[in-house]
Amino acid sequence: MTIGEAYHWAKQELAAAGIADARVDAGLLLRKLTGFGTAALYFDAERPFDADLCERFRDAVLLRASHVPLQYITGEQEFMGLPFSVSPAVLIPRQDTECLVENAMRHCSGKRVLDMCTGSGCIILSLAKLCCLKYAAGVDLSEDALAVAAGNAEVLGAEVHWIRSDLFGDVPGLFDVIVSNPPYIRTGELSSLMPEVRDYEPRMALDGDEDGLCFYRRIAGEAGGHLSDGGMLFLEIGCDQAEAVTRLLSENGFGEISVSKDYAGLDRVVCGRFTENK
Ligand code: GLN
Repeated sequence: MTIGEAYHWAKQELAAAGIADARVDAGLLLRKLTGFGTAALYFDAERPFDADLCERFRDAVLLRASHVPLQYITGEQEFMGLPFSVSPAVLIPRQDTECLVENAMRHCSGKRVLDMCTGSGCIILSLAKLCCLKYAAGVDLSEDALAVAAGNAEVLGAEVHWIRSDLFGDVPGLFDVIVSNPPYIRTGELSSLMPEVRDYEPRMALDGDEDGLCFYRRIAGEAGGHLSDGGMLFLEIGCDQAEAVTRLLSENGFGEISVSKDYAGLDRVVCGRFTENK
């Protein structure tokens, strides 16, 4: 098989499997697995494809055709302009979540910052790289997720303390800023998500229980005990959850509550200041 034939086969295979960006994904997988640039498709299209490489490429295309997310095949996703490794143990970093980082980073320099439900570590690691933090911690219940996050920290050269804990259960100390993108999909809606998400991303990173608010309830209830006076809480939310999450914050000692929109114009971040002790 030539490089050109392999690429055309991949495009057709992916399109037949209903992959929306079949051409883009075929090109990305080819580049990622072979190191060939796009130019190879024009200038070297007739060149025979090395048999080993060809087989690896074919395996990757077949995985994508069965709707495995591209990022789990390539093992990487960029976030805030930084490279992150991902595995099926963690949610793939979303562009929506950059909105959370952009809001939080204005309040983080020189501060002690905690990321609850850290997953790949994309949020706290971005904050650690982009702001000068006094102390950074990332919390997750999943040991496998923490291993991915620690690997990312090493590659990025960022110092973050990783804590395995069921929410705040085993988290010591006080923080000035707490950020979180917790699971927030209603359990009943999980089955209608795209197969890439529904079948391959970790359910524990998605499932927010019956009303999608389970983690906001617990985080809003417990965060105050881990925030310094006037400390800030930043939460990513689903676009229809602003009102409910605002209410949860105000019921739990938070003031100055505001909602920010993402670049699609949808409500995406709720933040508040812990004022109960003031
Ligand atoms: N905080 C991680 C992220 O935004 C994981 C989120 C989650 O597991 N719900 O990617």
